[in-house]
Amino acid sequence: MRLTRLLFATAALLAFTSAVVANDTSLFRAPNMDSITMGDVKGDVYFLASDEMKGRETLRAESDITAQYVRNRFERAGVEPAGEDGGWWQNVKLKYREWQGKPGIRFERDGQTVELKYEEDFVSTGGAETSVKLDAAEIAFVGYAINDPERGYDDISGANLSGKIALMLRYEPSAWRQGGRRNPFSRHSYLQTKEALCRAAGAVAILMVTGPESLGGSDNDRQLPSPEAAEKSPPLSLDLPEGERGDASLPFFHISVSACDELLGGEGETGRVQRAFDSADLAARPDLSALRLNLAAESREVHDTCRNVAGMIRGELDEWIIFGAHHDHLGYGYFGSRDRERMGEIHNGADDNASGVATVLEIAEAMAESGVKPRRSFLFLTFTGEEKGLLGSRWYVRHPLVPHDKVYAMINIDMIGRIENKTIGLQGTQCSKLIDRHCRDVAPLFPQLKVQFSDRPPPAASDHWPFYSEAGIPVFFPFGGVNQWMHTAGDDPETINYDDMLPVIKMLYEIGWRLSEEQQYADCTGPVKEAIGPDGKLRDPLVKPASDPDEEHEEEFSRE
Ligand SMILES: [Zn+2]
Repeated sequence: MRLTRLLFATAALLAFTSAVVANDTSLFRAPNMDSITMGDVKGDVYFLASDEMKGRETLRAESDITAQYVRNRFERAGVEPAGEDGGWWQNVKLKYREWQGKPGIRFERDGQTVELKYEEDFVSTGGAETSVKLDAAEIAFVGYAINDPERGYDDISGANLSGKIALMLRYEPSAWRQGGRRNPFSRHSYLQTKEALCRAAGAVAILMVTGPESLGGSDNDRQLPSPEAAEKSPPLSLDLPEGERGDASLPFFHISVSACDELLGGEGETGRVQRAFDSADLAARPDLSALRLNLAAESREVHDTCRNVAGMIRGELDEWIIFGAHHDHLGYGYFGSRDRERMGEIHNGADDNASGVATVLEIAEAMAESGVKPRRSFLFLTFTGEEKGLLGSRWYVRHPLVPHDKVYAMINIDMIGRIENKTIGLQGTQCSKLIDRHCRDVAPLFPQLKVQFSDRPPPAASDHWPFYSEAGIPVFFPFGGVNQWMHTAGDDPETINYDDMLPVIKMLYEIGWRLSEEQQYADCTGPVKEAIGPDGKLRDPLVKPASDPDEEHEEEFSRE
């Protein structure tokens, strides 16, 4: 195309696009779009991510203040309570463990009693472990606790762990590390993977060492994570009834290299054995059969409750679209921070996830204040406990406030406050062709944004995951991407990209509204094959409904 025409066309295009964004809201179907303002968004983010909110850690007072704030905003906007007993809250039952006294490890070597000291020689990997009392327990060296048929590496089958304490190396053979990646380790390094393998092999507890080769052979100080962090911000889990609890994980302690050398019978032994296992020389497995260990660790379970917040706008239909976002964050960064140096400082969580909460509040407010009754109903949820394991959303999916089969779609907003190059990802739309189409229809109405779609299923990264993976509900996940501030003490309101966040909020509102108006029912292809939608039919178009035996006979009859 020639320049003059190009210039003319571009001028016309520019005129068209700016007219679209700035003036011509007739293309928007969602009512009262203009009431979503930068001032309001900033107001929410600055409040939620203020130092006074101390990083909104789950089970801390600020987490309740956050829930109160969301509730007040909903109420002021005219949103109705949708929580338990006609209120605003969904109580999420949580539990964690705390030590009763310091754990102790003792063993005999060459007639000498060796006492390992808690915090000096060993710590628990994640807060207080399940109580354990082992007297004269046997111990076996397992290596990395890896069974990788592809690599022909299996150091666990030959370890004979049944009824013994497993002595294990952290991570994986040094040669397997993939340089240049943010996370150079494979799934074999995941503690859960190793723990599950040892438990399946019959181990009764795990002592794990970060071998010198994994630390580059020096800097032993950094071996043991400070237990302070886990005590100040213990890992939490859902407080579920007996039958619903998964298998309890094994007592799991992190020991220092010098403590491991003691167990293996000499200084430098840990490094020597690790180097052997790094070169798959499993014959070098040390024989610890003569060793007997006393391991005593007593802890108590603490039960507590935190809150999800639930508001609704009833539509004509008893079919629901959920807008969700987590309202918790990392507190002082003792848990989940990517910023070890600044552990103990407030992790304000402006992007993660005050930006998502502000989005839910703005959309709910615009819709409620419009006075327009939507076709489908809307449920607005803010979740607790996301940072500690999607706790609020997993609890919700186990205790839905609206039956899952009445939910049309779930939109989960997490971290849209730092989009770069005007690029926003709408992850997971691929799970539903209908939802994907609506997102692709609406995206061009916001030409100032670059909207990215992915052909991958929704990632397990945030609160949409339990809705999709456990309830089979179609979801999508607007996400601004991982950035340098994520999970650091630097995620402050001052550095949020409000200019681009505003059109993202409007785009999500428009998509949600269009889904509410859509005549067709949304398909969903995912792990829950039997999921039923609001039309009473299977959501997954690829799944053939279980055939009706009468129908079969009918066919038989008709064939005759
Ligand atoms: Zn986060």
